[in-house]
Amino acid sequence: MTPAENKQIVWVPVCCGRIMRYNIFKQPRGGVYGALVCTSCSKNIVLEQEPLFSLSDYGEGSILLSVVGSPKPPKSERPADVDIGIDEPTL
Ligand SMILES: [Zn+2]
Repeated sequence: MTPAENKQIVWVPVCCGRIMRYNIFKQPRGGVYGALVCTSCSKNIVLEQEPLFSLSDYGEGSILLSVVGSPKPPKSERPADVDIGIDEPTL
């Protein structure tokens, strides 16, 4: 894959066959956090902000993901054939 193609890829958070909703919330003590929420099972994933320079703290293989965060994502069904490999969680 060339770098030009790579830039056009985004990751879409999916749960229960639907795109997860993303909202940003203000923290009482300042700052903001984001939350990906599944409207079907209510699973939520909290995203906290952090300075970019700390990426090296996360170890080998860490990458920055471009993830779509939408408060009103399309309601279309996602293909349900995602096979989550437990034995090999990373590429
Ligand atoms: Zn779900």
